[in-house]
Amino acid sequence: MDTPWAYPDYDSHEIVHFVDEPQHGLKAIIAIHSTHLGPAAGGARFWHYDDAADALTDALRLSRGMSYKNAMAGLPLGGGKSVILAPPERHKSPELLAAFGKAVDRLCGRYITAEDVGMSVSDMVEVSRQTKFVAGLPNGAGDVGGDPGPHTALGIFLGIKAAVKRALGKDSVDGLHIALQGAGSVASGVAIHACAEGARLSIADIDQAKAKKLADASGGTVVSPDDILFLEADVLSPCALGAVLNGETIAKLNTPIVAGAANNQLATAADGAALMERGILYAPDYVINAGGIINVCTEYLGDGDASLVRERIQGIPTRLEQIWAESAASGRDPGVVADAMAQKLIGR
Ligand code: NAD
Repeated sequence: MDTPWAYPDYDSHEIVHFVDEPQHGLKAIIAIHSTHLGPAAGGARFWHYDDAADALTDALRLSRGMSYKNAMAGLPLGGGKSVILAPPERHKSPELLAAFGKAVDRLCGRYITAEDVGMSVSDMVEVSRQTKFVAGLPNGAGDVGGDPGPHTALGIFLGIKAAVKRALGKDSVDGLHIALQGAGSVASGVAIHACAEGARLSIADIDQAKAKKLADASGGTVVSPDDILFLEADVLSPCALGAVLNGETIAKLNTPIVAGAANNQLATAADGAALMERGILYAPDYVINAGGIINVCTEYLGDGDASLVRERIQGIPTRLEQIWAESAASGRDPGVVADAMAQKLIGR
C-alpha cells in the first residue's frame, strides 16, 4: 500500500483517529466518515481481530455505512463508528472503558458513540462518565431511547408492507407467507406485527428454543436454519446475519421480496444486480433497518418525543418507494440507487 489514502475502504473519511493507550489496555480506531449533515453518530464495536488491518477495514466500512444510514433516515447526523480492539480473551476493564470515553471526548462532539456488538448498555453508562457524547443510555418508561429492537422491527414491518404493495399489489400482509431468518430481538417484533395483520410465518434460528418460543407467540412454524432462505414465500426477511445474499443463495431463492433487518445482507455489491435480474425486489438494509438509530438519535438530540420517533420511522417506506421507483426507471439495482441517493445527501 503506497499511502493511507490508497487504503481500499478509505472513502475520503474526514477523521481516522487511532488511539493507543497500553497503560489502560485500550487500542481503538474512531472513524468519522462525514459530518456534512451533523455530528458523526455510530456505535462502538468491541471485537477481537487477529489482524489490526481488519479492524481498520471494519471501522472505515461501518462508518461510511452510518453516514448513508443516518442520511437516508433524514436525521441531522453524519456517520462514524469506533472499533475497540479486544484482547483474545475479550476482557473489558473499567479503565479501558474510561479511556475510551476520554478518547471520544477529545473529539469534542464530532463523534457520538453508542452501543454495538460487544458493548452493553452498562458499558455505555461507564463511557458516559467521561463524555457526554454518548447515545443509547437506559431510559425511563415512556421516554424515547432504550432498546432499539422494537423500533427497528416497526421499520422492517412497514418496509415489508411497502414491498408487498409494490411487488404484489396488496395493501396488507394478511394471508401472505413470511419467512423469518432469526428469532432475536428484531425478528420477534416483526413476527408480532405480521401475525397481528394475519400473515403466516415460518421461523428459523440456530437456537431452536428461541425459534419455538417465537413460533408459539406468533402462530408460526419452526423451520430448519438450512431451509429458511429457500422456502417458497411471499417475503424473505433476513434478521440474523450479514452476507446471506450471495452467488450461491440468490440462485435458489423462492420469493419475490427480500426485506429484513440484518446489516450488509448483500455479500458483494454485484449481488444487488443478481437479485434484480431474478426479478426479486430488495429493500436496501441500511434504509429499512434505520428504526433503531432513529430512536437512539432522537433520544440523543432531545429534539422530539415518541411520536416524532414514530413519524421518522414512518418515513422509511416512503424512502424505499423512492429507491424502487428510481431503480425501475434507471435499471440500476436498489442497492446502487440507495448508495447514490445517500452520497448526494452527504454532499459527495
Ligand atoms: P439478535 O442477536 O437479538 O438476534 C439474532 C438471531 O439470529 C439470534 O437469535 C441468533 O441465534 C440468530 N442466528 C444467528 N445465525 C443464524 C442462522 N444462521 N440462521 C438462523 N438464525 C441465526 O439480533 P437483533 O438485534 O434481532 O438483530 C438482527 C439483525 O439485524 C442483526 O444482523 C443486526 O445487526 C441487525 N440490526 C439490528 C438492529 C437492532 O435495533 N437490534 C438495528 C439494525 C440492524
